[in-house]
Formats: sequence, C-alpha cells, structure tokens
Amino acid sequence: MTSNTRVVVIGAGLAGVRLARRLGELGVSALLVGEEEHRPYNRVLLAEVLAGRYRPEVIALPSPAELTRARVTGIDRAGRTVRCADGSVIAYDTLVLATGSNAVLPPLRGLFTADTPEGGLPGGVHAFRTMDDCLGLSEAVRPGVRAVVIGGGLLGVSAARALAVRGAQVVLAQQAERLMERQLDPAASRLVRRHLTDLGVEVHTECRVRDVRCVGGAVRSVELADGYALDADLVVLACGVHPRVGLAQDAGLDVRKGIVVDDELRTSDPRIHAIGDCAQHDGTVYGLAAPAYEQADALAELLAGNARARYTGTRSLTRLTLTGHEGPFDLAAFGEPEPRPGDDVVQLADATRGTYRKVVVRDDRLVGGVLVGELGTVGALARAWEGAEPLPSDGRPLLHLLTHDGGS
Ligand SMILES: Cc1cc2nc3c(=O)[nH]c(=O)nc-3n(C[C@H](O)[C@H](O)[C@H](O)COP(=O)(O)OP(=O)(O)OC[C@H]3O[C@@H](n4cnc5c(N)ncnc54)[C@H](O)[C@@H]3O)c2cc1C
Repeated sequence: MTSNTRVVVIGAGLAGVRLARRLGELGVSALLVGEEEHRPYNRVLLAEVLAGRYRPEVIALPSPAELTRARVTGIDRAGRTVRCADGSVIAYDTLVLATGSNAVLPPLRGLFTADTPEGGLPGGVHAFRTMDDCLGLSEAVRPGVRAVVIGGGLLGVSAARALAVRGAQVVLAQQAERLMERQLDPAASRLVRRHLTDLGVEVHTECRVRDVRCVGGAVRSVELADGYALDADLVVLACGVHPRVGLAQDAGLDVRKGIVVDDELRTSDPRIHAIGDCAQHDGTVYGLAAPAYEQADALAELLAGNARARYTGTRSLTRLTLTGHEGPFDLAAFGEPEPRPGDDVVQLADATRGTYRKVVVRDDRLVGGVLVGELGTVGALARAWEGAEPLPSDGRPLLHLLTHDGGS
C-alpha cells in the first residue's frame, strides 16, 4: 500500500481514532468520518464525566488530522464510494468500518409509545453509550432525584456509582443473581455490591423489570415482574450493547454477531476491513477497549505495508475503578474466575479492608482471576495471563502470584 492510496475510516471512536493516528505516524494519511458532533473522546471515561470527576474536554482524544463530521448511510462496493446523510459521497481504495456498538434497548412495555418521538425514548429514560447520553443524564441528575438503573453489568455498576456520587437516590435492578456476573465470581460480586450499598445504592438482584410507566411522555415509575413499582424520575438502560453492523449487512458483507474479519482484519470484501466493537474475530466480539486498540495497531501496520502484521486475538484484563467518597475502589478480572474440577485455586480475602484476590490455575497455566480493592500484583498477573506462558515450575507456591508483583 502506498501513501497516496485513499484510506477512509468510518467511526471516530477509540478504534477509528487510534487507527488514524497510528497510520499518520507511519506516513499513511487517512480520512476519518464520524457522526458524533463532539470532539472524539475516550468512551471508557464517560462515567467519570457523569460522576463530575472530569469535565468532558478532559477525556478528549488527541484529534486526528483529517476528520469529517458526517453519518455514513451506505457503501457502494462496486463504485468504491460511501454515501453520507448530508448527500456527500466519499471515494475510497481501502475502507475501514470502526462503527462500534449501540446500546441494547430492552423490550419493556411503555418504552416506545405514541407519546415518544420517533426512534426516541420517553423523557427521563437514557441509554449510556455516548457523550450526548452522558450530558443528558448529567443535566437531569441532582441531589434527591430518584434514579433506576436497569442492568448490573460493568456499565450499570459504573452508572449507578456515578449517579450516587452526584447525590441521586439510586436503585439498581439486575436480572442475574449477582452484579457483573460475566467478569466476577460470587465473592468479588458481593464486594462490589457492598461498595455500591455504602454509597447509598439500593441493589436488587434476580429482579426483572417489566414495564416503564410514563405520564405525558415522561417516566414516572418502573414496574418489576412481581408487580412492585419503583418511583423514578430518571431511568438508565444499561442492558448491554450490540455491534453496529447495519452498513456492512446492507453492503452484503459476511456478518454474524459482528462483522466477520480474518487475522488481517479483512471482511469478506478484501478492500473493506473492520476493527473494534463492530468486528468479530475468530468467533469473538470483544466489546472492550484493549482489543479495539490492538486491532487498530495491527491494521495500521498492515495498511502501511508490513505484510507480516497479524491480529491473533486479545487476552486482556478488564479493569474498573469506582471512585467514591471513601476513595477509589479498584477491580481487575480476567479469564475464567470460577474453577473447574481439578483446577488449583488460591484466594486471599480481607473482610475488614474489603479486599479479595483469587487466581485459578489449570495445568500450570493461569486461566482466570479476580482482584478487588488490592491491585498490587496486577502487573505480574497481567503479564502471566497475556503472555499465556506456563507458570514457573521452580517450587514457588502459587500464593506467590497473589503477593508479589515480580518487580513491576
Ligand atoms: C460508559 C462506558 C464505560 C465503558 N467502560 C469500559 C471499561 O472500563 N473497559 C473497557 O475495556 N471497555 C469499556 N467500555 C467499552 C469501550 O468503550 C468500547 O469497547 C470501545 O469504545 C470500542 O471502540 P470502537 O471504536 O470500536 O467503538 P466506539 O467507541 O463506540 O466508536 C464508534 C464510533 O463510530 C461512530 N459511527 C457509527 N456508525 C457510524 C456511521 N454510519 N457514520 C459515522 N460514524 C459512525 C459512532 O458514533 C462512534 O462515535 C465502556 C463503554 C461505555 C459506554
């Protein structure tokens, strides 16, 4: 690929901006097309903006040179152009889809009624995905406001904590039996729950929301499956995300959960690549920042002419910092935190300090772990996990993994 080949990247999120920046460093220019009207920003830090810890401009990403604000509405693969909502047409030689994810809107009665604007949500009901969602929520939250967060995964926990820090009376409704069940084991989940409860959040698990009740187009309460109603001035939908694959689907590309890509991040059309939350590599749609960055870096190398560059998957830790009145509460999780029969497990818990550390080892390899409140060993664990190397067989007890950081 030569630098006069036109690379067009759709989506100015974490993956798209990283790709454009890396390409610039490697001497390849790229046109980035993004629909959001804000300066590109670090989505991972939106909860800190909502909590009032950072101003929006603090989480801005270093701006790429060529950024066009437009929403792409179609791809003409034969003509190698993309069409935008404002009627403009952009030609490409290589196209990269970095369109991210959309918030899942759960099928609740009352969410889409005749009173709500087309494609919109009732007043007081917010998704939590974009800077606009965050600013809308931020404007609506004030001390004493009754907020219901639907969903107790990473997103719901972050949103509930941020709203509580802003003085809202928060109820978190989680359908699963514990918080962040995808990343955490029961003991770590209990600590997260305790942290939220200490901040004044009322947490309900195994709790299914059935209905959103509105009056005059604005939310008034949330009804649970058992008929109980929670009064609500604000509702946050934190029920997961799904990859934005509409453009790829309409263009006839191979799409399953996400846009299917190979180790060169190529879709079923070799001139079109996909990276980040919208891409499915080796059966996996990650929905996390670290894989989005790694895919962007690998693709930048490939497009700059390094034919040997490949993306072979990401083994990364999920980290979350919940900053409350009592100081930060950190957690990190990776792999399988629940052991299978025959696995070795080492765990250290300190109920007074609210810390918990656990690793699961199978056949001399680290297969999962959780650290809550005490992340001193996270560097060594991350290296052991990401490198997937066998653990040292020098007789050191496995406890070593949880008590020594190996010099990081
Ligand atoms: C509140 C919150 C907290 C999170 N916390 C964490 C965390 O702690 N750790 C972690 O690893 N991950 C976290 N994530 C997930 C992380 O933000 C995503 O994995 C990451 O943003 C993916 O980057 P991306 O570039 O693929 O997608 P995005 O960042 O979603 O960017 C995609 C961009 O493409 C634009 N776009 C889409 N379609 C078009 C179109 N047709 N035309 C023009 N533009 C278009 C979108 O508007 C968007 O700006 C969090 C997400 C949220 C919302």
